[in-house]
Parts: sequence; C-alpha cells; structure tokens
Amino acid sequence: MSVAPYPWQAEAWRTARETWKRGAHALLLAGQKGLGKRDFAVALAQSILCEAPSDRDDRACEGCTGCHWLRAGTHPDYVLVEAPSAADTDGAQGQVGAIRERQIGIDQIRQLTESLAFTTHRGRGKVVVVHPAEQLNAAAANALLKSLEEPPAGTLFVLVTNRRALVIPTVRSRCQCVSLRPGERQAMQQWLRDTGIEDAGLYLALSGQSPLEAAAIAADDHWRQRGSFLNQLGAAGTDPVAMAERFRDLPPPLVLSWLQKWTFDLMYHSVSGRGRYHVDYEPSISVVAHGVSPLAIAKLHGRLVAAQRVVNHPVNARLFLEQLLIDYFNVCAPER
Ligand SMILES: [Zn+2]
Repeated sequence: MSVAPYPWQAEAWRTARETWKRGAHALLLAGQKGLGKRDFAVALAQSILCEAPSDRDDRACEGCTGCHWLRAGTHPDYVLVEAPSAADTDGAQGQVGAIRERQIGIDQIRQLTESLAFTTHRGRGKVVVVHPAEQLNAAAANALLKSLEEPPAGTLFVLVTNRRALVIPTVRSRCQCVSLRPGERQAMQQWLRDTGIEDAGLYLALSGQSPLEAAAIAADDHWRQRGSFLNQLGAAGTDPVAMAERFRDLPPPLVLSWLQKWTFDLMYHSVSGRGRYHVDYEPSISVVAHGVSPLAIAKLHGRLVAAQRVVNHPVNARLFLEQLLIDYFNVCAPER
C-alpha cells in the first residue's frame, strides 16, 4: 500500500522519494488541478522530517515531535511559501469557480531566505514547499533562483504547479520534475464513493478526471442548478436575457466553466460521437451539435476561453452572463 496521501499518487511518491534520496535539492511537482499535489508535498515534507520513520517504507510515524509540529504547521525546519488563497485551488476544500489569482511576492521569498540561514533545528534537514510555483512574480522568482542555485545544505525545495509551462524557465530548469497524473478511472471513482459521493463517474467526468475537484463539485450547492441551466442551453426557444436573469446569482466563473465544457462537448461530439464532461447530457448535446457547423462552435469556444480573462472581475455579473448566452444562442439555437 502506498504511503502517499491519495491512491493515484503511488508512482509519483516513489519517484519523489527516490529523487530526493539521490541527492536532488529541488523538485517540481507538476500536474493538473485537483490531484492533491499540495497534500502530497506536505506529506513528503513530513516523511523527510519525521524522526522515527518506518524502516520498511519510509512512512512517517505520526507520533514523534517532528510529525506533531508538522501537522500543527509549526515545524521550524518546514517552510510553506504560498500565494494568498492558493489552498483553494488544489485541496479538498477547494471552492470550484472561485479561484483568485494572487501572486507570491518578493517579501515572502526574503523571509524564506532569512529562515534558511539558520541551521536545522531537529537535524533532519529542511523542507520548503512553494505553492503554486507559477504564481511567483518575477522579482520573487529571481530571489528564489539564488537559493536554488546555491541551496543550503540539507534543504529540499518542493515547488508545486498546476501549469508547468507557466513556471519561469530558469526556475523550472533547476528542479527535477515529478509528474502527477490521474489514476485508473475505477480507482478514482472508488475513492470518491468511499468519501460518500454517489454518481462518482459523473462528477469525475465534470472535473476533467480530477478527484479532489470532483469532491468539491459534489459538495457545492451551486452545482444543484446545473441541470436546469443545461436544460435551457439545450432547449429550443430559450430567451438568453430571461435565462441570464434566472441564473444571475450563480458565480460567473462557474457558469463560464459549464458553458466552456458544453461547447467543448459539442466539438468533441462532432468528431467522436460522444461527450467528455457533461456525460449525462449526451442526448441534448447530440441534438444541438447536429444543427451547427463545427467551425462556428470552435470559434464560439475560443471566445468563451478568452472570456476567462475577465471572469473573476466582470463589471456587471448579470450583463456578463447575458452576453455569453446571447453569443451562445446566436451560434447554437437548437432546432426541433
Ligand atoms: Zn514521526
């Protein structure tokens, strides 16, 4: 059995531990959102700082001073450098659709550098977790680079990222990459069922195969309105203005993500005959897809992706939704 926090992380866990044992001083933990990378990084730190790890599989003991301090977030040899509200984006507590883009600033890295100047308190080295690494601003990244180039002895940096390509290349190149991927679909569904979620397959599809995001979706009240929203998208004669009024209280990022997944499914359906996200709405998707040119859908989807840039702070949320829906129904007016 794996000692990683989640069953789909077993292979990455082995890789990370082995890479560290071979003497690597910086890991880049990369993978899509919702795979539990932050929990992985903290567990890895604990397995390194535990003072009585199991001889057999390096499992942290959970009983020593190091384990207690790490769990309490007070271990003097453990530093978490985190973007404000970043925990929301890759943990089980994640608020779907409410991701705030905030950067890690130079002051946070200066504080880190100062703390690294002291020798280790408990004699097991130090672990620094940076989350998420793509949100280091340029000055912070440059300051961190100095530590990565001349790492203090016995220090392991674990940089966590949802978007590896956006991590500054000079930082990226000084790290050993450990990739996290979704696991076997059945194993992920079983894990969701074990946490009490029925319809695990549907939520997994809606999350793009990210189990923690699937769990967050299942717990989010706004998602109860998804069915009526999609029914209207697929219905003939829906009035976009009335529809925007009806769903005006939904968070714009959430509505945009439903729409993007819907138009993605329309494109996907025209090439594969099935959907990828809204798998419970395939009959509606099929009807809409048959009435529209694939090129027009692709262009619409491109506009929805572009709308991502302003979705976190639209001037007027209802108008924003109205414009999206007018655009959608101009392209995809379902015919009967
Ligand atoms: Zn321990």
